[in-house]
Amino acid sequence: MGKEKGRDNLKNQVQNLKCYFCENNLNELDYKDVAVLRRFVTLQGKIKPPRKTGTCTRHQRVVARAVKRARTLAILPVKKD
Ligand SMILES: [Zn+2]
Repeated sequence: MGKEKGRDNLKNQVQNLKCYFCENNLNELDYKDVAVLRRFVTLQGKIKPPRKTGTCTRHQRVVARAVKRARTLAILPVKKD
């Protein structure tokens, strides 16, 4: 049980994910674009890890910046814990 099973599930999730930005030929994310930002944050307001969203490293940085800006402007909730 336990660890190995969990790892397999994770692998399966990752395989069919593609970077949203590369797919749509986008290079920037507007911090006001809540509909898009929501894809990249959990319900608690945390930024989802790239392994869950499929975002590539380069675009993950774009996402992080946009989410942080949106938090500052109270467009997105700030992570609680
Ligand atoms: Zn990308």
